[in-house]
Amino acid sequence: MSCRSRSPVIDALIDDVGIVAASARLHVAGVLFTYRCSIRCRHCLFGCREDLPDTVMASRQLADVLEMLHETGRVVHVAGGEAMVYWETLAEGIRLAAAEGNAPHFIETNCSFATDDRVVERRLAFLQEHGVRGVLASADPYHQEWVPPERFLRVRDWTRRIFGEDNFYGNGADAADIEALTMVTQAEGRLRAHVGTHPPVMVGTSRRELSQYLDDFAPDDPDLPMAGWRRTLDLPACLEQFRADAIWEIHVDPYGNVQTNCGIILGKTDTIRPAAVLAAGPEHANRFVECLCAAGPLGLAKLARDEYGFEFPEFVTQGCELCFLARRHLRKTHPDIFGPAEVYE
Ligand code: SF4
Ligand code: SF4
Repeated sequence: MSCRSRSPVIDALIDDVGIVAASARLHVAGVLFTYRCSIRCRHCLFGCREDLPDTVMASRQLADVLEMLHETGRVVHVAGGEAMVYWETLAEGIRLAAAEGNAPHFIETNCSFATDDRVVERRLAFLQEHGVRGVLASADPYHQEWVPPERFLRVRDWTRRIFGEDNFYGNGADAADIEALTMVTQAEGRLRAHVGTHPPVMVGTSRRELSQYLDDFAPDDPDLPMAGWRRTLDLPACLEQFRADAIWEIHVDPYGNVQTNCGIILGKTDTIRPAAVLAAGPEHANRFVECLCAAGPLGLAKLARDEYGFEFPEFVTQGCELCFLARRHLRKTHPDIFGPAEVYE
C-alpha cells in the first residue's frame, strides 16, 4: 500500500527559497523515466537518443518510485531521456502520485515538446495542479544543436509565470544569448574552444563525440584531469560521488536500477529502497565502488587489468574516461553492476 512520503518540511523550504536553492541544499533524487530521448546531445552522459528501445516506466511504477525517492529527504524530480515524449503515461503517473501525496518537486525537460504556447501552458498547468513545484529546462550548445531556442524560451516564460521565478531551474541568459547557443556546434573551432573551457564528463555519448577536442594524457599521468559531479568537498579519489551526504544525484531508472550519475548500479528497487541504499553507505555498495573511493579511476583500471584482462588505453582525456572504459570492460562479467546497456553501448 502506498503512503505519503513527500515531506512538508521540504515543501516549506521550497516556499522559502525555490527549487534551485532547495536542491543545492538537499541535493536531488531523480526518476530516469526512460533512456529514450527526442534528441541526441553530444554531451549526454547516459547515451540517450531517439532510436533506443521503447522502454519507459509504467504510470504505477512511476508513482511507486516517487514514493521511494521522497523517503531520501532530497528534492525529487522526473527526468529522462526526455520524459515528455511519453506525456500521457507521465501525466497519469503524476496524477497517481499526487493522489498519494507524492508528486515530484520538479520535472526536467529538453523543451522539444514546446512547439506552441498552448501545449506548454496546458502541460505546466497540469503539473502545477498536481503538486509539482517547478521545471528544469536545458539550454546549452549541445541541446540547442537540436532544439530551437524559442522552445526553451517558451518553457522558461511559462514556468516563471505558473511556478514563479525561483522555481525555474535553468539558464537565465538573455534571449539573444540563448539564440547564439546554436552557433557553437556549427563551427569546429568554436566547438573545440567550448569543450576545452567547459569540459563535460567524458562518459557515454560525451566520450564518443567530444573527447577528440580535449588533450590526451597517459592513464597514469598524475596531471590527468578529473571531472565528476559538483565536486565541492575535499574528499579523496571518487568518494564524493558515493558518500550519502555528498552524492549530488541518486536516481532510479525504468529497470529499477538505483544509480548515481557515475553509471554504477548500487541496488535494485525490488530488493532495496533508495533511502536504504543511502543509509547503508553507498561507498561500500560493492568492491568496485570501494576501489574507486579509495584509489580513483586509475585504481579501478588496475583492478580491471589485473583481474579481468582490461587493456590500458594509450591515452585518455580524463579520469572519468579511464573509469568509463574500465567499467565498460567490467560490464562483460558484471552487467548487474555496470549497466544498463543504454549507458555503456
Ligand atoms: S542530455 Fe538530456 S536531452 Fe540531451 S540526449 Fe541526453 S537525455 Fe536527451
Ligand atoms: S572517475 Fe568514475 S566514479 Fe569517479 S567521478 Fe568519474 S565517472 Fe564517477
